[in-house]
Amino acid sequence: MAKSIVIKNGRLIEPSLGLSEQLDVLVEGTSVAGIGRDLTGDTEIDASGCVVCPGLVDIHVHFREPGFESKETIATGSRAAARGGFTSVVTMPNTAPPIDNGGMVEQHNRSAREAACIKVWPAAAATKGRAGAEMTEMADLKAAGAAAVTDDGNDIESSWVLRRVLEYANMVGLTYLTHAEDHSLMEGGAMNEGYNATRLGLPGLPKAMEEIAIDRAIRLAELAGARIHICHVSTAGGVDIVRRAKERGLPVTCETAPHYWTLTDDAVERFGTNAKMNPPLRGPEDVAAIRQGLADGAIDCIATDHAPHTLTEKDVEFQSAPFGIIGLETSLALGVTGLVRDGVISMERLVELMTAAPAGGLGLAAGRLEEGGPADITVFDPEAEWTVDPNQFASKARNCPFAGMRLHGVVKATLCDGRVVHRAAEG
Ligand SMILES: [Zn+2]
Repeated sequence: MAKSIVIKNGRLIEPSLGLSEQLDVLVEGTSVAGIGRDLTGDTEIDASGCVVCPGLVDIHVHFREPGFESKETIATGSRAAARGGFTSVVTMPNTAPPIDNGGMVEQHNRSAREAACIKVWPAAAATKGRAGAEMTEMADLKAAGAAAVTDDGNDIESSWVLRRVLEYANMVGLTYLTHAEDHSLMEGGAMNEGYNATRLGLPGLPKAMEEIAIDRAIRLAELAGARIHICHVSTAGGVDIVRRAKERGLPVTCETAPHYWTLTDDAVERFGTNAKMNPPLRGPEDVAAIRQGLADGAIDCIATDHAPHTLTEKDVEFQSAPFGIIGLETSLALGVTGLVRDGVISMERLVELMTAAPAGGLGLAAGRLEEGGPADITVFDPEAEWTVDPNQFASKARNCPFAGMRLHGVVKATLCDGRVVHRAAEG
């Protein structure tokens, strides 16, 4: 008989139940057996001074399996996730080969069951080979357990194909995740177009690339009568387009990533290729709009776009380096430090942005902490301080622009299906 665990004296924040008060949580086996006061169990996790919340959910990560195991694997990526407080993640299908058929979705799910300490839900490609031409068999993908469809890394250039993808995805009950990018404006761009790019002599990526693509995707979703999710919004214009669509009552959701509220394109000079991602870091007016959007609901959720690369791949000239940074082990602390402590949002809103909101958008069975439900639980100390040191990360990768930053918010324990998958060292 498995021992029960009681998480005592923490402040339970459960957005779906509207709870934010001191309550104990009792875990028996894989489930939450009780929420209340003065609960007892065989073993105890002291959560004094800590927030206790549903296991965090990240709907946009790259675990690089199959094909790029030197960057990350399901095993290392999921350990990084557990360390960051995540118990559910959605992996992107831009692997080699791309995950674009039911068999590959099933294979990915088998690998995840064997190798992952948390729940890993694969998103599958929306078009065959992510080539943007021929739709995948979405009914098969859904039956095999795909969490969503996306060609992430690419937009779908043909509006005709994108319209059909949206119609079909909606019909089978899958959400299409849009990597919003007008590729014809890319022209070898490496960082945000503007003053800093000119100064550094680097080709720019204009904000219009994202804004045009978000606008087009939303118009096509409206035409298709489909819901749509916009990935990694980085621009003030993008936030504004999504906000207006919501005001018109359209079923549009979007995410942003921690780097877009933390850094501007000033960081490129300081951190080099570790500050290169797509979409790129933008200007201060964009950072302000991202913060505003997180506060007022124009932005629905936080996702890391965790994009591991090897040291050698990133140790090249800025223009030649691959896009992407890792984010799973810093996301929560960047939210606590840069959003909650800065007075942008409440702790309750931060928890919602990282649990119920992302899970609800895709219909994942995650992001809730309730009696009888799975014991996916995160315990973090919002006051504890630490210095980001990528060499301590569980991820295989080190491409992180936050090295050396002092942050508040330490994950003390992560439980997935009642199992302790991460426990911080004491002291
Ligand atoms: Zn993307």
